[in-house]
Amino acid sequence: MKIYTKILIGMTIGAILGYAMGPRSPWLEKSSYIVADGSRLNLRLNPTEAASEIDLPSKYPIELLRPLPTAATQNVEGWESVHLTVDEKLVLLDADGSLRQRLGADLHGTANVWLKPDVRTLEDGDTVTWPEPLSSTGFHFIDWLRPIGALFMRLIKMVIVPLVFTSLVVGVASLGDVRRLGRMGSKTIALYLLTTAIAIVIGLLIAGIAKPGHVVDAKSRTMLQAQFDGVVTDNVSRVLSLPSTSDMLLDMIPINPANALASGHMLQIIVFAVMLGVALASIGGSAVTLEVFDKIQQAMIAMIQWIMALAPFGVAALMADVVANSGFSILKALFVYILVTCAGLLIHTIVIYGGLVRFGARMSLRQFLAQIRPAQLIAFSTSSSAAALPVTIKCAEENMKISKSVASFVLPLGATVNMDGTALYQGVSAMFIAQIFGMDLSINAQMTIVLTATLASIGTASVPGSGVINLALVLGAIGIPAEGIAIIIGADRVLDMFRTTVNVTGDLAVAAVVAKSENEFVT
Ligand code: ASP
Repeated sequence: MKIYTKILIGMTIGAILGYAMGPRSPWLEKSSYIVADGSRLNLRLNPTEAASEIDLPSKYPIELLRPLPTAATQNVEGWESVHLTVDEKLVLLDADGSLRQRLGADLHGTANVWLKPDVRTLEDGDTVTWPEPLSSTGFHFIDWLRPIGALFMRLIKMVIVPLVFTSLVVGVASLGDVRRLGRMGSKTIALYLLTTAIAIVIGLLIAGIAKPGHVVDAKSRTMLQAQFDGVVTDNVSRVLSLPSTSDMLLDMIPINPANALASGHMLQIIVFAVMLGVALASIGGSAVTLEVFDKIQQAMIAMIQWIMALAPFGVAALMADVVANSGFSILKALFVYILVTCAGLLIHTIVIYGGLVRFGARMSLRQFLAQIRPAQLIAFSTSSSAAALPVTIKCAEENMKISKSVASFVLPLGATVNMDGTALYQGVSAMFIAQIFGMDLSINAQMTIVLTATLASIGTASVPGSGVINLALVLGAIGIPAEGIAIIIGADRVLDMFRTTVNVTGDLAVAAVVAKSENEFVT
């Protein structure tokens, strides 16, 4: 059986497991609530005790609250008796020292307490009541599965830095002369920037035409905003403005290459590796030096072969986690937005990449997609172009027959700076949020989005979830409130999988074009 068939089976089984055995399973008994960031519950130790209401601050998230399954669960003016599992976070939760002591003294491990959700009135008069009930067994099952996915991710991440570094040194040094590197480098970067800008335009156009923001009703909007407000204030609004271009460029030069390698700062690693490659070539680097790098690179690829044996299990666990944690109500409320983003990604893939490989590399889109499928599947299931890089390089060299020097130069660069899927997603999201807030985006504002999102995509780390953080930059540049991200963040995990797949597809399409133009397909 081919590796991608195995990975596909793993993904399918994982998705089914996540649905059937996860916390939202329709078949498991629901006995828990997750109080996520932003939901607020009032708590007191007994229903008649008036003074001791405690507002659970939204900053201390995710407690597992188990209502008593017996008749003891009753409503006293909206208060509900629950069996509460107290962990350290809850004991720490209140800033008021006396209260903290009391909580600490009264609640050991588990306790019966009284809770009341902070009831919000929505615009149409409905109220938000309890969070969605969930299954504890489901949580435990997913918790138990999670280390398998984490193991796979860690193993892949382990090879990324040495692989990128050695690939680039060998790739660049084997190009021979600096002029050739300059030509290939400028072609590569130009194609990366161009496809990214086109992706954003497609995102803006499709969201402008389909107007997904006009479909979200007030109720869903308030629900989403209430649920994720805390997450956004904590994580996203920290990103305030785009660094100046000179800062961005300067930051690409590592002061200490060893530090760059140790911290995995990809842009810095790329700059150092390229310069080292050029320098080795220019001093006529002895065959022995290059061979050391070459052998380390080959050893990394050998390790990837072993790690890939784990891939079907790893992706199964990763998929189960995603499916288990994506609340259906969220996906339903954002259905049109998700659909529009995916449609944009599909159009970009078919039209732009289809055109690129057809006219730039004399290859049909179908042939191209068949050759890169393993890389796409890993990108989809890990949501990280960096994690997919080892497989991306392998597909380019083994399936597409792109020469090693082109693959090892173009792809590590692409995994770091080229993110068409992310850029397109940012275009759609900016439009969508603006529509929800009733703002009209002028042509100028849209041009600003194209510019900032192109720049932001270069600086976006190729790891899960970084696209949404940089979206705050893009929104900030045109004055859309970053809090709007609270509305879409619930769908981020799912969209991340699709946009990362497109990110990786874009790298490979450009690699094919560069290889063709440089006559670097090996036969
Ligand atoms: N996960 C994406 C990637 O690695 C980046 C993003 O969050 O959009 O390519």
